[in-house]
Amino acid sequence: MTTHNALIGHNQPPRFKHFSTSDVVPTIRRLIAEQDAGLLELEKDCQPTWEFLVLRLNAIAEPLSYAWHTVHHLLGVRNEPALREAEEEVQGEVIAAGLRIAASRPIYQGMRTMRDGAIWATLDSVQQRIIDSAIRSAEQAGVGLEGAARERFLEIETALGEMGSLFSNHLLDATKAFELILTEASETEGLPPSLLAAAAQSARTTNSEGREPTLAARLKDATPEKGPWRLTLDGPILMPFLEHSTRSDLREKLYHAQITRATDGELDNQPVIDQILKLRLEKATLLGFADYAALSLSRKMAGTVDAAQHLLDDLRKSSRPAAEREHSDLLAYARSTTQNPILDLKNWDVGYWAEQLRKHRFDFDDEALRPYFSLETVLEGLYSVAERLFGVRVVAAPEAFETWHPDVRTFRIVDAQDQPVAAFFLDPFARPENKRGGAWMDTCLDRKRDPDGAVRLPIAYLVCNQSPPVDGKPSLMTFDEVETLFHEFGHGLQHMLTRVDYVDAAGINNIEWDAVELPSQFMENWCYHRATLQGFARHHETGEPLPADLFEKILAARTYRAGSQFLRQIYFATLDLALHHGFIPGGQESPDDVKRKIARDNTVMAPLPEDRFLAGFSHIFAGGYAAGYYSYKWAEVLAADAFAAFEEVGLDHLDRLAEVGRRFRDTVLSMGGGQHPSEVFKAFRGRAPDPSALLRSYGLAD
Ligand code: ZN
Repeated sequence: MTTHNALIGHNQPPRFKHFSTSDVVPTIRRLIAEQDAGLLELEKDCQPTWEFLVLRLNAIAEPLSYAWHTVHHLLGVRNEPALREAEEEVQGEVIAAGLRIAASRPIYQGMRTMRDGAIWATLDSVQQRIIDSAIRSAEQAGVGLEGAARERFLEIETALGEMGSLFSNHLLDATKAFELILTEASETEGLPPSLLAAAAQSARTTNSEGREPTLAARLKDATPEKGPWRLTLDGPILMPFLEHSTRSDLREKLYHAQITRATDGELDNQPVIDQILKLRLEKATLLGFADYAALSLSRKMAGTVDAAQHLLDDLRKSSRPAAEREHSDLLAYARSTTQNPILDLKNWDVGYWAEQLRKHRFDFDDEALRPYFSLETVLEGLYSVAERLFGVRVVAAPEAFETWHPDVRTFRIVDAQDQPVAAFFLDPFARPENKRGGAWMDTCLDRKRDPDGAVRLPIAYLVCNQSPPVDGKPSLMTFDEVETLFHEFGHGLQHMLTRVDYVDAAGINNIEWDAVELPSQFMENWCYHRATLQGFARHHETGEPLPADLFEKILAARTYRAGSQFLRQIYFATLDLALHHGFIPGGQESPDDVKRKIARDNTVMAPLPEDRFLAGFSHIFAGGYAAGYYSYKWAEVLAADAFAAFEEVGLDHLDRLAEVGRRFRDTVLSMGGGQHPSEVFKAFRGRAPDPSALLRSYGLAD
């Protein structure tokens, strides 16, 4: 079985053509048993050395993590029921096996002995950072606690897990419970065809149980042209409806339902929020932190609540006046368009008028851009940026590795001496039937140097969901899709151009969470650079370059209502920090009181009295963003400031750009998680990050 099992052989990319779903359960179980046995042996004689606690532990854990990672990769790109069942069958066992390593006291004690002993001075700074992080992870998983404290900690963790799921389930059920059925064409005025199609599909596929039979029959036969149309609170229906519907009364209904979602009866999330905030505070206190924000920030680049808050305060200074100006512009435009000088904008009108004004100022049809962005052209442009800036070449390697689908392409990255440094898989096209939506970079193999000096080169998976070729035309991309590809390639570069030899800090491993979007957002900036974009964007049939006025519209669209968008992110981020810092759950003030207080300085239009949007704020109550929502803006600051280093030498001076590019490669793209991101940034920029470049690039500062 071993020779033809794609889940075995963790120093090579998986042999996808040999993958068989029936191998999953037995292979994973065997690897769990082997990992457990290896761990037991390691714990029996736990020597406080690098070889023992890092290299040997890696060797014990790698086969299972490779196999499991491969299963998850396939679930993302080639999902099928049998594979999902196999994954579900062993998932609990894999998690439990991982916890046995994470909770191992002998390993934790061994690492502490290393840190406190003479051996510490013999380790290099990357090794020290790896051990420090491992100790911190163990401590934050409660491994350092004893007796009753440890028991309570484990109870809290379980309760937090349950509360997070409860929050999501309530939200999901409350979202599902709402619908608004439109039957008259007059109710659909302004809606684009894609939304009519989605609303008709929602009508056709909705459950007919308990419905009045005539309506049920009509719903079954819904068409985009004749309806009925079923509106829901799902993003792809709600958002475009608020932007396009000319009917203020219907927008109000949907908006209202949205801001009061999951706030009553059995689905009320407000008591769940109280519980979550209480448990988080208690967890942080048990671990010796002042509050949950301090715990969260202790593992992030920002480091302290003050630093994160300081950034938000800084950005607010320019964003708020800009948002106010944008609002009065919008009001003036709405009044003149409706010829109603006393028209007032309500909260549910803003999205609609913002879309009208956007169209009025610089409408361009996404479809009009597509012919200039064929996949081949875009890849050529992207690879030439990498070559120009970082001195590496991307070369097609069509037969290098087995793939999971005929559309998947394989490439190698070679250095200036034509020596291979990395490789990647590119899976560009949407396959709605079995491929997850969105785009992502994932690691296939991490860079690693064996004790004998042999290096395993890093390999990445780049996955997008753009339009496949149709009718003999190549894949033609929207501008968003181009930007997404640059973004994911940026993550890929950090994974692939790493020079760290230890798996635990190679590429994107061990990088603080608020710093990991630096290279990806940095790469997006090149899509707005005239010479770069116009260097590759050309019509796939005529070869004609992208017309200058279209480029100007792309630039203008980027900064449109930037103040309002910034302020919205700042509002959420400030509220998130306030709820996890200095707030006493169950005290005099409720989370909703905090929201109202924060809204005063962070919104142009105050939330409605009945607004309870926290009950739907799953990023911080059911996702990973608790006391971390500021990271969106934090990473944008890093990326824009890094890009500004290129602007400062003159974007059209190729030799000077290459010099800065090499420095970017030698720092941000090479050092991985081996150094604190503040040091890495300083090594590149010569100073700490400065938010003014971000504000400038969005027209919010001079
Ligand atoms: Zn990203």
